[in-house]
Amino acid sequence: MLKDQHNRQTTYLRLAVTDRCNLRCRYCMPAEGINFAARKELLTFEEILFLAETLASLGVNKVRLTGGEPLSRKGLPSLVEGLGQIFPQMAMTTNGILLPPVLDELIGYGLKHYNLSLDTLREDRFFTITRRDDFGGTWNALESLLERGVKTKINVVVLKGTNDDELADFVGLTQDRLLDVRFIEAMPFNDDDGNHHLYLSHQEMLANIKERYPNIAPDQGEANSSSVAYRVPGFLGTVGIIPAYSRSLCGTCNRLRLTPKGTMLNCLYSTKGIELLPLLRQGIGQQDLADLITEFVLGKHKTGHDTQRLEQTGDVFASMTSIGG
Ligand code: SAM
Ligand code: SF4
Repeated sequence: MLKDQHNRQTTYLRLAVTDRCNLRCRYCMPAEGINFAARKELLTFEEILFLAETLASLGVNKVRLTGGEPLSRKGLPSLVEGLGQIFPQMAMTTNGILLPPVLDELIGYGLKHYNLSLDTLREDRFFTITRRDDFGGTWNALESLLERGVKTKINVVVLKGTNDDELADFVGLTQDRLLDVRFIEAMPFNDDDGNHHLYLSHQEMLANIKERYPNIAPDQGEANSSSVAYRVPGFLGTVGIIPAYSRSLCGTCNRLRLTPKGTMLNCLYSTKGIELLPLLRQGIGQQDLADLITEFVLGKHKTGHDTQRLEQTGDVFASMTSIGG
């Protein structure tokens, strides 16, 4: 079992399979992209599955595929097929544009939870935020998911002065759709673009939503959820707020992260992790790997604030796309 020094058990792996993406969301990546990893620097599917088996033997029972855009990793469905034989629960965070043609195959392999990133309901704004003109692509994915009745959440990164006039419109989507809309506090990645000015806090978001929905009320959230749950009475879906920046939910954190290049991180705010790729390529055995990961998880700090203070050097990540959000 993977327990940290603060008695939290790690059961959930966030697996970033690529740092590449078909969008360029301005809070995530610069317009020109980042210094993307070369193919040989990425963990292969075989290496990922070997690691996944080790983690499953240590009590990890859920994996979330993320990136970059996970669906831009070539051959992804075959990885999902393999992961489906290891983990009872699989989820994916995606912009959805490449999803419809492979959705049924992925569902067939057991991938039944989808978080779709969509920051605006207006086509012109989609371009402003993502620097690509494909609102229809993400919306089409949303419709495909709802038609199939699979568990779907929309992730909205809230950007002051850009989409904060749409929060109530997003809440409106939950009226007659079985859909969870979750608003994410923007984190200061890709800071050169001035993103630190864009942050709107949990409480500011709630006040904003209450202007149209004054009776929105706390709702029962999922265990270990990264969001605080709300619901407008009578609405089918729920609303969540993810305090990514204020980090008020670290106490129930059950996650471990793996970057596309095989760095294992135990916090979103980590810059130091263990480099698993060379060890895997040198042929490390399951038991040695399990011992190493167990020791690593034990050292996890209590909060993301602590991690940031104790770990971060000048060497911070260029983009959320290298960590997987
Ligand atoms: N490309 C996929 C997508 O956008 O859903 C998966 C990777 S993306 C890095 C994972 C999540 O991180 C998305 O929901 C995205 O909106 C969120 N994210 C990216 N940059 C962020 C930032 N600066 N602050 C808060 N959330 C961010
Ligand atoms: Fe791509 Fe997701 Fe980053 Fe947007 S948030 S640029 S879709 S990785």
